[in-house]
Amino acid sequence: MKLHEFQAKRILSEYGIPVPQGSVAKTPSQAAAAAFDMGGTVVVKAQVHAGGRGKAGGIKIVDSPMGAQKAAEQMIGANLVTFQTGPEGVPIESVLVEEGVNIVNELYLGMVIDGTSKGVVVIASEAGGIDIEEVAKSSPEKILQIPIDPVLGLQPFQARKIAYWLGLSDDLVLKSTKIFQNLYRAFVETDASLVEINPLVITEGGDILSADAKFDIDDDAIFRQKIIREMSDPAQDPVLEVEAKAFDINYVKLDGNVGCIVNGAGLAMATMDVTSSAGASPANFLDIGGGADEKKVAKALKLVLSDDKVKVVLVNLFGGILRCDIAAKGFVMAVEEMPDRARPMVVRMLGTNSDEGRDILTQSNLNVIMVETLGEAAEAITKLS
Ligand code: GDP
Ligand code: MN
Repeated sequence: MKLHEFQAKRILSEYGIPVPQGSVAKTPSQAAAAAFDMGGTVVVKAQVHAGGRGKAGGIKIVDSPMGAQKAAEQMIGANLVTFQTGPEGVPIESVLVEEGVNIVNELYLGMVIDGTSKGVVVIASEAGGIDIEEVAKSSPEKILQIPIDPVLGLQPFQARKIAYWLGLSDDLVLKSTKIFQNLYRAFVETDASLVEINPLVITEGGDILSADAKFDIDDDAIFRQKIIREMSDPAQDPVLEVEAKAFDINYVKLDGNVGCIVNGAGLAMATMDVTSSAGASPANFLDIGGGADEKKVAKALKLVLSDDKVKVVLVNLFGGILRCDIAAKGFVMAVEEMPDRARPMVVRMLGTNSDEGRDILTQSNLNVIMVETLGEAAEAITKLS
């Protein structure tokens, strides 16, 4: 679960990590009032669950309440498209109005769960700011990575190593090592899978401050994060993913045009591989899950057919707890409910009641091609898409 910048900064503040003074505005007049209270230069920042705002017009530096009002007028209610969003962008429902900071240097500080070292890795670079992705590609030697022992936590010597790597002056070393250790504590205690301060800035006054903040919380730990749970903002997620979640269907939208309906996450991954090797590309990952009934199966197909990009649907089911005849009835039900959106379906069904399932589909008026093997499925998809 992603957090907004203003929520992330509240957490940082609670952990003693300095952030600029700021306040959230939901209307242009609130933004003007906030700018008036702060006086001087302020930064108006679109609150969306995506980075890359600076390059996309989502960050505006203004020097009057009127300027803040205008910036907020342009942002609130609009959709922001950045290199991290799809072409449809994400809705801006609020802005963060912050005191302007005179930045001397922009640093990068991140922590992420790393599968290779099986723990948290701290990532730091002197070349922070909006081009960090480019730095990682073209000069990876500028990026420090330190794996943290989960038992010992972030050790003082490691914190000092980060501070020196970032080229911090002696008077900032003590302050910054506290920031690193507090951030590690915040990471662990919020069940984060990623936190990122980019940029961590050195100001003209010689201070150190988090100018941006990003938190990604492990969805499987949300149940024990009562306060963070309240911060969720489903308006930032793709509509179809939110609907799927309500039905307990694992759905992730992708860019291709082959809608995939599968039971079991592993089989779903394999099905996407087959789709790709057939020269097509999957429109989604979808795992119906085990205990599905007709209605849930129908919902799954309706979700997939709601995606305008979908040209053909690939069904790959292994009937176990979910019987194939139930699934077939669910598919028929879905197409009856949205006949205009019906698309050709390539169906592979094995396991419990597969004969009954196939009969239901071939006798229905659905446009289905029944296949036995994944190879045949791939062939059928290549032809159709
Ligand atoms: P992102 O593009 O979504 O990561 O948004 P950021 O919050 O990181 O802002 C992008 C860039 O805007 C930063 O790298 C800074 O260069 C600039 N910026 C943000 N806040 C301030 C500020 O208070 N003063 C100045 N001068 N620049 C800022
Ligand atoms: Mn940033």
